[in-house]
Amino acid sequence: MEYERLLCFMEETATKVLQSPENSLSIAEQKQAMLAAIIATSDDAIISKTLQGIITSWNPAAERMFGYREAEILGKHISIIIPPERLEEEAYIIGQVAQGNRVNHFETVRMVKDGGYIPISVTVSPITDQSGRIIGASKIARDISEQLAAQEEKATLYEQVRALNDKKDEFIGLASHELKTPLTSISGYLQILSGIVEDEKGRLFLTKARQQVSKLSSLVSDLLDVSKIEAGKLRLSTERFDIRQVINDAIELLAYGNHSYQISLETDITELWIIGDPHRIEQVIINLLTNAIRYSPGTEEVVVFLSQENQEIKIGIRDFGVGIAPEKLKDIFTRFYRVDDTNLNISGLGIGLYLSQDIVIRHKGRIWAESEPGIGSTFWFTLSQDQ
Ligand code: ADP
Repeated sequence: MEYERLLCFMEETATKVLQSPENSLSIAEQKQAMLAAIIATSDDAIISKTLQGIITSWNPAAERMFGYREAEILGKHISIIIPPERLEEEAYIIGQVAQGNRVNHFETVRMVKDGGYIPISVTVSPITDQSGRIIGASKIARDISEQLAAQEEKATLYEQVRALNDKKDEFIGLASHELKTPLTSISGYLQILSGIVEDEKGRLFLTKARQQVSKLSSLVSDLLDVSKIEAGKLRLSTERFDIRQVINDAIELLAYGNHSYQISLETDITELWIIGDPHRIEQVIINLLTNAIRYSPGTEEVVVFLSQENQEIKIGIRDFGVGIAPEKLKDIFTRFYRVDDTNLNISGLGIGLYLSQDIVIRHKGRIWAESEPGIGSTFWFTLSQDQ
């Protein structure tokens, strides 16, 4: 029971009993008996002492907690249970109590009879006489060993999880790095082969193989980027570039591989020069366009918006696809998060939006999505013209 609730309970119980008609004892006697019973049965140590630190009461829980019997400790100085290196705490507590203040949930360590230490949380309140003069202090102490052990266990577990997480990031970084080299060779050999193979079927298979290798390469690159972000090593190479041109290039690239989609750009802007990393910004646009296509099966339109207001450039990518439920929207930019929709069978690693967000934030921009399930989504991001 919390200290405040314990005090309240003591007060309430005493009042209830005192008000019952069968009572033959005087009110003061009954109250005394009631409080004594509660103190005797409490799980918390309840101790009182004079302002000079002389112990004047010691309940059974205090006997269990500190190992001293009531008879042997009454009249002794409270410093008997205070470790020498913590003696100044007593001066502070008594100082507070003497001024009429309460010391709440003070976590400290006390000494038990056999010399061992015990972590406790104490609440100390002033005791006043009938004239209101402070004559001592009452102290409620709770053994917090279990609580501290649980906290320590939690901290150790947290540390272990963090270490494992670091290992995982390290592994992702290493694995993607190792995968990149053979992939580059495969790409090279496929390129050479496409100059040799002449029959139609062979060329068709080669094109398909190159498409798959390029998909794999981009997945591996994304993974490598994620590990760079985690290690704080994703670098931007900034320069002055035309954002409209970058958008055009990204649209052209995606339109080339997705003939069934009509990707249009709605803007009044013909050119707009900004400072940033054009390759990383293109990566963001490609990610968003790829998603707009992947998550819109059976549709054929994607619209890109580009506008500028003061120093802020706003880019939007709208699809008319499956959309995202409102409660999932806040999570989609989290690393490895994928909307768990069993009806959809679209593969992915859940890192494209995480990467895009990191890149946009590094350009002092914002990224967000608006979406309605079954209607479609618009992903927006802003860039600042003055970096
Ligand atoms: P991936 O697409 O590889 O799973 P992303 O980080 O690009 O990873 O996207 C995270 C999740 O957000 C996706 O799994 C998908 O559920 C959802 N999502 C992203 N873009 C769209 C979109 N245009 N329409 C519907 N859902 C989307």
